[in-house]
Amino acid sequence: MTIDTLLKQAYGRLDTLSDTAQLDAQLLLAHIMGVSTTYFFTWPDKSVCDAHQVGFETLLARREKGEPIAYILGEQDFWSLSLETSAHTLIPRADTERLVEVALDLLPQGAGSILDLGTGTGAIALALAKEWSASKVMGVDYQAEAVALSQSNAIRNDVSNAEFRQSNWFSEVKDAAPFELIVSNPPYIDPEDEHLTQGDVRFEPLTALIAQEKGMADIRHIVSQSKDYLVKKGWLMFEHGYDQGSAVRSLLEIHGFEEIATYQDLGGNDRVTVG
Ligand code: GLN
Repeated sequence: MTIDTLLKQAYGRLDTLSDTAQLDAQLLLAHIMGVSTTYFFTWPDKSVCDAHQVGFETLLARREKGEPIAYILGEQDFWSLSLETSAHTLIPRADTERLVEVALDLLPQGAGSILDLGTGTGAIALALAKEWSASKVMGVDYQAEAVALSQSNAIRNDVSNAEFRQSNWFSEVKDAAPFELIVSNPPYIDPEDEHLTQGDVRFEPLTALIAQEKGMADIRHIVSQSKDYLVKKGWLMFEHGYDQGSAVRSLLEIHGFEEIATYQDLGGNDRVTVG
């Protein structure tokens, strides 16, 4: 079968399940064939060998069952990084690149010391460490699997100014404090949210997604503790739900933060708040 025919059949099978059916099919076939997707535009009529067809079918069947592309491929691009993914951690998202962008805009000179709470794959910590090569970045996660993954992602991306350790939020970071910047993309989805029953998110770890108190419990905990771990003029920055901007702003205000501002994601929704 030719590349073109194989891809067209795959688009048909993924069309109702995925908003990105064409790209999904191309990424899976490229992965099996060990080529980049541009190869398919140059050689649409080339025939695909049996072994590659069988391998492609296996991956396609996984995608048809709803498994996210990033878990099937085992990797996801984020900022300028290529990150290894695992089912123990959230898949890095474009919305979270917005947090990195806001940090870079807010602190044009960079921050000397940074803490990333709930680092997962290490996405935010590694992006900031790469942008600010003179900074010292610490990423922490409650899950040992995430710590191992973020450490291996640091090596994979040649980042040497980020260190990762296991910690339940601030529990193990006292010796490295105070930080000039604390960032976090914590769990913030209301456990009742029906978004959790649809699409790729069904395959991601709930511990990285949901928080009690309508999704605000972890953000509340972090805000209430963070002043003990920040320098006097330090910054605290969160990713949060599209409808949590005002709640996060008032929380920061109650805890004495100043220069509080919320920034929108690519879809125009409130997504990042700083103070
Ligand atoms: N924004 C993600 C989603 O809606 C959730 C990320 C998070 O909980 N930190 O799937």
